[in-house]
Amino acid sequence: MKPYQEKRVLVTGGGGFLGSHLCDKLVSMGYDVLCVDNFFSGSKKNIIHLLEKPNFELIRHDIVHPLYLEVDEIYNLACPASPIHYQYNPVKTIKTNIMGSINMLGLAKRVKAKILQASTSEIYGNPERHPQNESYWGNVNPIGLRACYDEGKRCAETLFFDYHRQNKVRIKVIRIFNTYGPRIHPEDGRVISNFIVQALTNKDITVYGDGSQTRSFCYVDDMIEGIIKMMEETPDDITGPINLGNPEEKSILEIAELVLKLCKSKSKIVFLPLPKDDPVRRRPDISLAKKVLKWEPKIPLEEGLKRTIEYFKSIL
Ligand code: NAD
Ligand code: UDP
Ligand code: UDP
Repeated sequence: MKPYQEKRVLVTGGGGFLGSHLCDKLVSMGYDVLCVDNFFSGSKKNIIHLLEKPNFELIRHDIVHPLYLEVDEIYNLACPASPIHYQYNPVKTIKTNIMGSINMLGLAKRVKAKILQASTSEIYGNPERHPQNESYWGNVNPIGLRACYDEGKRCAETLFFDYHRQNKVRIKVIRIFNTYGPRIHPEDGRVISNFIVQALTNKDITVYGDGSQTRSFCYVDDMIEGIIKMMEETPDDITGPINLGNPEEKSILEIAELVLKLCKSKSKIVFLPLPKDDPVRRRPDISLAKKVLKWEPKIPLEEGLKRTIEYFKSIL
C-alpha cells in the first residue's frame, strides 16, 4: 500500500481562470492538490481562499524549468490564454507550450502519472469546416500574430502523442472552446470580460470588425465538469483529442447586445478594426464528448452571463 491515502493531483496554471475553478473542485473532492503557477496571467486572489485547506498546496514555479514532484495525475493548463497576454511575449508563450509540455511529460513519464493537456479550438485556426470536429486538421497561419499560441498548442499536442507512442505515457487531450465565467482577468481583453466591464462602467462597447464573426461560449462550471470526466472516467485507450465547448453559436454583435440588456447599461456600441487573423467563425462539434464522456453543457448563455456579471459587479 502507498504511504499516502489521497490521490495527488498537480494543476499547472492553477492560479488562472480555469485552473482556479479546477483546483476548487478537486479540493472539494478530497484530493491532495498541488497548484503550480508563475502568476503571469493568473492571480493569487483566485486561490487565496484555498490556502487554508490542508489538502491544497501552492508552488510558485515556471514550467519552462524542470519540476520534480511525486503525483498521480497532472492537469497541464499553464499558458496565457487571451490574445493580449499570449502576444505580450510570444517567444515565452512558445517556450511555455513546448518546453513546459516536455517538462510535464517528462514528469508524467518518470512517476507514471496520467496527464491531461488543455488544448484549444485555436488549433483549428480560421476553420474552413463548420462546425469543427476532431478529425479536422485546421487552417492556421504559421507566421501570424496568433501563431505563438496556435502553433505552440499544436506542437504540444504532437508532443503528447509522441510521449504516448514512444514512452507509453497515459495522455488525455481536450480541445477547449471559448469559456467564460467569474475570475476571468478583467483586463485580459477577452470579449465577455471586456463587454461586461465596459457595460458596467458605462464605457463604449468595443466590437471589433462588424461583429458578424461568431464564437460559441461555454460557462466555466460545465467546462470543469467535462475536464474532470475526461481525466477520471475514461479508460487509458481514450487519449482524445476531444472537443469541449458549448455549441450555441452567437455573433459578437449579438453578445454585445445581450450584455447591454443584462447589465441594463447605457453604453453605446462602437466598431473598431478587426485584429489580424481573427477567426471568422467557431463552433464545436461535441458529438464525441457526448458519446464518450456522456457530457454536454447545461448552463445557458444568459444564465452564465448573469453569474459572470454579478462577479464583475463585486470586483469593480
Ligand atoms: P489564464 O491566463 O487565466 O490561466 C493560465 C495560467 O497559467 C495563469 O495563472 C498563468 O499565470 C499560468 N502560466 C502561464 N505561463 C506559465 C508558466 N510558464 N509556468 C507556470 N504557470 C504559467 O487562462 P485560462 O483561460 O484559465 O486558460 C487555462 C488553459 O486553458 C490554457 O492552457 C489555455 O490555453 C486553455 N484554454 C482556455 C480557453 C478559454 O476560453 N478560457 C480556451 C481554450 C483553451
Ligand atoms: N523532467 C522534469 N521532472 C521530472 C522528470 C523530467 O521536469 O520529474 C524534465 C527533464 O528536465 C527533461 C524533460 O522533463 O528535460 C523531459 O524528460 P524526458 O525523460 O522525456 O527526457 P530526457 O530527460 O531524457 O531529456
Ligand atoms: N472582440 C471584440 N471586442 C473586444 C474583444 C474581442 O469584438 O473587446 C472579438 C474578437 O475580435 C473575436 C471575439 O471577440 O472575434 C472573441 O475574442 P476573444 O479574444 O475573447 O477570443 P478568441 O478570439 O481567442 O476566440
